Amino acid sequence: MASDASTPAPPTSNISVRRGEPLVVVENVNKHYGDLHVLKDINTTVNRGEVVVVIGPSGSGKSTLCRAINRLETIDSGRISIDGKALPEEGKALAELRSDVGMVFQSFNLFAHKTVLENVTLGPIKVRGMKKAEAEAKAMALLDRVGVANQANKMPSQLSGGQQQRVAIARSLAMNPKVILMDEPTSALDPEMINEVLDVMVGLAQDGMTMIVVTHEMGFARKAADRVLFMADGAIVEEAEPEQFFTSPQSDRAKDFLSKIL
Ligand code: ADP
Ligand code: MG
Repeated sequence: MASDASTPAPPTSNISVRRGEPLVVVENVNKHYGDLHVLKDINTTVNRGEVVVVIGPSGSGKSTLCRAINRLETIDSGRISIDGKALPEEGKALAELRSDVGMVFQSFNLFAHKTVLENVTLGPIKVRGMKKAEAEAKAMALLDRVGVANQANKMPSQLSGGQQQRVAIARSLAMNPKVILMDEPTSALDPEMINEVLDVMVGLAQDGMTMIVVTHEMGFARKAADRVLFMADGAIVEEAEPEQFFTSPQSDRAKDFLSKIL
């Protein structure tokens, strides 16, 4: 771990708040699926402590960009680095880097045959070599933070979608990620469960977590995002502060998109 004399004490042990310096740097990234150019010369920098909302029509490359950032997808050209380290191709370096990048998916992806508690302790024990008792204590604190500590010994299938997604967030926090990527984290939820997950996300943002969130939840963007990144056809078409983006989008693509979702 690089030490940094200017690092202020984080508000919780989980979150790094050396705000301002580049954490995720995406430079000239291109990707194709066969003939389809899905990421077109993507350039963006997410600074530490920054919350970026990625928005755009279906098929515009939002998920592919997220997956490229933690190397679930390869890229054809360009560079992506996390905290100054280029994304490695494979092996131990990749595993380490991936554990710095939390990922929360639309479909929760909890381990179905493990309890809620085990879902949260597994990574810290297996990947970080944490002692079971310590991992459990930490997991319980995180489950409490997302409001599901009383579900710790249940199986995921016994929980509501909103509860499962909050467990998934706790699981990703348990690895002390430097950044959390969330790909449409509330899209699979029944409407009455969306807010309980958004509230947790807003809390993380307020605590200084660096987040990249694909979502069309404007309330979250307005409350928590520093920047909205609008993608269409594989390119970043517009980048602006939420209020500015939602009230006066510049491009026809963004105007058209917003007219459909607002
Ligand atoms: P979004 O998340 O914005 O809806 P995606 O990143 O999922 O968009 O997809 C971007 C484009 O790439 C879409 O046209 C999609 O059909 C295509 N695509 C995504 N994944 C694959 C894949 N594994 N193979 C081929 N095409 C893909
Ligand atoms: Mg997607």
